[in-house]
Formats: sequence, structure tokens, C-alpha cells
Amino acid sequence: MIKGAVQGVGFRPFVYRLATSLQLAGWVSNSPDGVVIEAEGRGTAVREFLVRLPKEHPPRSFIQSLEPTFLDIVGFARFDIRPSLESGSPSALVLPDIALCDDCLRELLDPADRRYRYPFINCTNCGPRFSIIERLPYDRPNTTMKAFEMCGECRREYEDPMDRRFHAQPNACPRCGPHLVLWDGDGRVLDTRDAALRTSARAIRDGSIVAIKGLGGFQFVVDARSGEAVARLRTRKVREEKPFALMYPSLDCIRADCEVSPLEERLLLSAESPIVLLRRRARRRDVVDEVAPGNPDLGVMLAYTPLHHLLVRELEFPIVATSGNLSDEPICTDERDALDRLAGIADLFLVHDRPIARHVDDSVARVVLGREMVLRRARGYAPLPVGVAGAGQPVLAVGAHLKNTIAASVGSQVFLSQHIGDLETEQALKAFRQVIDDFSRLYAFTPSVVACDAHPDYLSSGYARECGIPRVEVQHHEAHVLACMAENELKPPLLGVSWDGTGLGTDGTIWGGEFLLVTDRGCERRAALRTFALPGGDRAVKEPRRSALGALFEAFGEEALGWSHLPSVAAFGASDLKVLGGMLARGVSAPRTSSAGRLFDAVASLAGLHQRVRFEGQAAMALQFAADARVEGDAYHIPVGQGLGSADRLVLDWAPMLRQILGDIGQGVPVGTISARFHGALVDAIVAVATRVGHERVALTGGCFQNALLLERAVGRLRAAGFRPYWHQRIPPNDGGIALGQVVGAWRALRGESA
Ligand code: ZN
Ligand code: ZN
Ligand code: FE
Repeated sequence: MIKGAVQGVGFRPFVYRLATSLQLAGWVSNSPDGVVIEAEGRGTAVREFLVRLPKEHPPRSFIQSLEPTFLDIVGFARFDIRPSLESGSPSALVLPDIALCDDCLRELLDPADRRYRYPFINCTNCGPRFSIIERLPYDRPNTTMKAFEMCGECRREYEDPMDRRFHAQPNACPRCGPHLVLWDGDGRVLDTRDAALRTSARAIRDGSIVAIKGLGGFQFVVDARSGEAVARLRTRKVREEKPFALMYPSLDCIRADCEVSPLEERLLLSAESPIVLLRRRARRRDVVDEVAPGNPDLGVMLAYTPLHHLLVRELEFPIVATSGNLSDEPICTDERDALDRLAGIADLFLVHDRPIARHVDDSVARVVLGREMVLRRARGYAPLPVGVAGAGQPVLAVGAHLKNTIAASVGSQVFLSQHIGDLETEQALKAFRQVIDDFSRLYAFTPSVVACDAHPDYLSSGYARECGIPRVEVQHHEAHVLACMAENELKPPLLGVSWDGTGLGTDGTIWGGEFLLVTDRGCERRAALRTFALPGGDRAVKEPRRSALGALFEAFGEEALGWSHLPSVAAFGASDLKVLGGMLARGVSAPRTSSAGRLFDAVASLAGLHQRVRFEGQAAMALQFAADARVEGDAYHIPVGQGLGSADRLVLDWAPMLRQILGDIGQGVPVGTISARFHGALVDAIVAVATRVGHERVALTGGCFQNALLLERAVGRLRAAGFRPYWHQRIPPNDGGIALGQVVGAWRALRGESA
């Protein structure tokens, strides 16, 4: 029995070829648990078989366990590939979708090939997986390809163990497979097949917005060189300033606009093929600023399906390729639904008749510190599991509120779902419920415990309350640290630096600048940022000036609200200031927080960068982007001292730093210097706390550590001070990774390890 990502990657043909070359007899078959092989022959040949199996397995497969048992000789005459076994529980890994391979690309562009320009070409090494699987085991009748009957030629390939398309479940050709259709905004057919693609390309060139049914859902595509087209998409999609992702026709084209390191190149060309955040060149060619306003990075990907390859080759210029949804709703997967929901946005719909089994967004990644960091985990990564030592009962973790993902534990494997999104809309909540049902069905998973955030108002927490099974609440920032530990295979004790925007703390206040010591026995809050009040509560997320006002009030008292030379104060009218001042003075509608994210917002506001933002973190990002990399030393100072409440809890008092910042602002010091000195102060404070706590290992987690500058400097300084810092790679540091931490947190709680 072999377990792992062994279905849908040409594993059985590989076994067949290896076995026959060693003159072994027997059989190989898929089962819901993995791959089962029986082989017999000379002892040396069997031993060689066992050695070479894990060594020479196909590139996209991943062997998790290989459990040989020696049985009596049956006397097989030859080696066969048998139909799948149905028994057992389906714990075999479902593979992610895989970007088009080079062999298929060559055929796609070869006029002599029977799949020339066929947008659904694939083989055992590439193509859709997760987005077409309806149930396990992974066989054609269990995929959304079941309606397409293979033609004679396709069937021959499918049945020939020596063929690249042997048991390639989505195998298809122009004669027997899915086809493209182009609709106008009312669903009337304008063109079909290759003409549909060419007409779409022409429309994009002419400035139209085309909704394309891609691999895991719809995308809006427009010409990235047209300010007018991009602006129209922004208005129609109600997405004012969030950066759009781009798809480029080639790596060379990307190089013309962005700096690309060898590691970034590898990531762009990988089978996962995520959107990679790249540094723009100062002198870039075509892409208009409206694509990513005020952002020094561009989110860039290469074509990953044959359909995309054909399209970008037709166009030869970069296109915006962003999720086909309205504002923050989940991505559309069904063409009828798309016609309904996206009609006001897209001019044309390029669709096809291969159904999408579940939504899978494009993933987002960047390279930091010479390693990949996945910021949004979806296509190409989901649903590969994370193996966690010390497994417990089957847990369903429902995640947090923003950037929601869910997780299910099967044995020691934690399957983290694809990105679902912010649970703010009816549609998102529907998608959230769907993914939970989907995972339960796919993995025949029945949780005995549900884990959720401690925040009672999160819709995910509400779902957990209604599950009717025992529920474990895992504190938000602890979940961040546990996720980082799980991913890095770290055991306690360890100091977690858990910095983000918002999460409910165990004391009922809003946390977000936490230092948590995780031990076998529990989790201690050993240090935190000094708290300040947010007038108007959650409204501060969209208005950094409110965070600034709260911080000013905390550091300097009521008088600071009259400092109208400060942009944060000047951004309010007199009557608003009076109302907010009243909230702060009386402590009404002004919840206190230790959030590092809100402190970033406050400083960004004081520095005059943003008083209001369109999405969470926009001001903090602007502050990071503004930082002058040349300013290394000369940081502000954040004293770390004993707090008032708990005897051994440290407090990072940023108030003296705020005085320094106001001084610099008064003297006209550039924002770049202020930002660099601010980052430096935070990093110094992290090292100071780590030194006082005295554990060698430090995990840096939470949304703030998406900030590459903060992360790089913190890692560098911690290492220099003799610590071993860890951070996120495959699991997002933001709330997209919370569900993994919740699973581990639930196990710890059930074993009595939680505080
Ligand atoms: Zn291929
Ligand atoms: Zn065919
Ligand atoms: Fe968080």
C-alpha cells in the first residue's frame, strides 16, 4: 500500500513500467486510500522494485508512506493495471490542479498534432485535478469529465500503459472533449471553438471586459495597457484600489516590467503557477498604473491552462486576470450563475462545457528571505495536507473571519481548504458551508470536535456553535503561532510573535501585537504592545486616522486632539473630532487594542500617507513601501518594560516613539526615513522581548509578517542575536492559515495542554 499524492500523476503507469522491466508479475490498482500493488518475482527483483519505487516516482507524485507486506505466492502470469478498488475510506490525497506541461504545450502549438489549438489538452503530468474531482477514487466516472465519452483514439491512449495519457482522467481531444463557446451579455452564442477564442482576443484588444471560465472559476480579463478598460473594470467590479493580478505572455515580457530573481522565475514556471508578487521596474513599458495604484509590486503569473496559453499568444501583451466575482464575493464557477451575477461587469463570456467541481482561486505567493511564501493558498497548493505530529481526534476547524479557509484532520494529516474569502457576504457564507460539506464528502470525514475562533461574532464561530458536536475555541493569535509551528514541524517550547490587525484576546480586549510563549502545558501571553483605544471600533480598519487619534490620545491626552497641523487630526471636521474625543475621554465605543496592525495604520496616517483606505492593510503597506532601504540604523526606540496588570508580562511602550515621530514630522524628515526608523524600532523591540523571554526559537506569524521588510529585518536581527527564527512558507501568515492552528489548538486542548 502506497499513500500520498499518487493518484492522477501517472503513478500506476510508472509502477507498471518498473515492474515489467524487472520481470515482476502482479497488479497495481487505485484504492480510496492510495495505491495498492502486488508484485512477485525473484527476491532481488522485488527488493530492487521496493528501492526504486520511492526513488524514481513521477515528478508530480509525492509518496507519503509505503507499507510493504510479504504474502504467499499467487502465481501471476503478468503485470496488470486493475480497475480501482472501491473499499476503504477515501484518505488518498486529492491532487491540486497542475499547470500545462511542456509536452502538452508543444502539441498544443503543433499544427500537425490532432490536439493543435485544443484548449483542453492535458496528460498524466498536467491538467485539472482538484477542480474536476467529484469523489474518490480519482477515476473518470468520478470527475466532471464523466459526461464526455472518449473517442477511439483517446481511449487507446488512455488504455496504453506506455502512453503519456495512460489513465489521464481528463483526457480529451477536439472530437470527444469539451469545447469553447462565446456568449454576449445575454447568453446568446456569438462564436464557438477556435473562433470563440479568436473573437474574445479581438474584443480584449478592443478594450472589452471578457469573463473567462478558467480552471477553478471565472476570471475577468482586460487589456492591462488600457487605463480606460482597467478603470471600467474597477468601477463595475466595485474594487477601487486593490491591486489586480496580471497574466503575461512570456517570462521575457515579465522581465521587461519587473525584476525576476532565479527563485521567482522558478515559482512563475512551477506546476503550482501562482500569482507572484514582483518588484516593478522604475521604467516599465505598458502596464497602466490603475492596475496596482501606489504599489511598487505587481502580482504576475504566466499562462497555466492551454486556454490561457492560446489567449496570451494571440494577444502578446499583458492582461489583467482577476477573480470573476463582484467585490469580495467568492469566485463564480458556473456559466449560468456567472451570466446572472457578472452580467453588469463583463461584456462577453468565454465559457465551455467542462463543469468545475469546486471553486479554486489563483494562489498568491512571493519570495522572501530566499524562500517562497504563500499568501493565498488555492490553485496548485490546495488541498495538499500538512502532516502534524501528535495527532488527535478528527477535528473540523472553521477558521476566522477574513481570508477564511477551513481545515479537516484525517489521522495526522491536516487538509487545509482552498481560499474561501471574507465571510462578509451571503455568497461567501454559502461557499464556506459548501467547502465544509465538500471536504466531509470527499474525505468521508466525520469530525468529533469542531474548532473555532474565540470571537463569538464571527460567522464561522456561529457555524461551529450550531454543529452539535463538542466545540473548542482557539484564541486567534495562539492559532497563528500553532499554524507556524505545525508548518515548520516545531515542538514547544517556543516564543510566538503574533502580530496582525485584529483578534479577540482571552481578556476580552482586541489583541494584535502579541508575544505568546507556547509550552506543553499551554500558552502564556508574555508581552504585548501598549494598548490604545480605537474610537468607533471596527471603523478604524477603513480609517487609519482613527487609529492615529487613539494613539495620540493614549500618548499625549486630550490636548493632542487639537494638534491640527497633524494630517490625522486635520482629516476630521471639528464636530467629528468632538464626538471622537468624547468617545476616547469616556472610553465609550472605543475598544482598547494592542494591535500592531493598527499601530502601523496610526503611523501611516501621521506620516500623511492614508487617512482612509479601501481595504485592510492598505495604509500599513504604503508605510512599508515608503521605507527608505538605505536607512538601516538610527531606529526609534520602544522601551520594553514591566506592565501594570500582570507581574511578568512585558509591555512595548510605543508612546516615546510617537513623540520621536512627531518631532521628525515637524522637522520635515522624509516619510521614507520615518518608516525605516519605525520598522527598526519594532524589530529592536522583538529582539528585546525574545532576549527577556529567553527561548531560542521564535516564530514570526500573523498578517503583519506579510510585510517583507519587517520579516527580513526581524529574522536578520534575531539570528544575529543568537535566536532561531521561523516564519511561514506554504501556509499563509495571515488569517488564511488560522484553521491549521485551530486543529492543533483543539488537539492540545483535548490533551489538556491549553492554558
Ligand atoms: Zn501534459
Ligand atoms: Zn478524443
Ligand atoms: Fe489574524
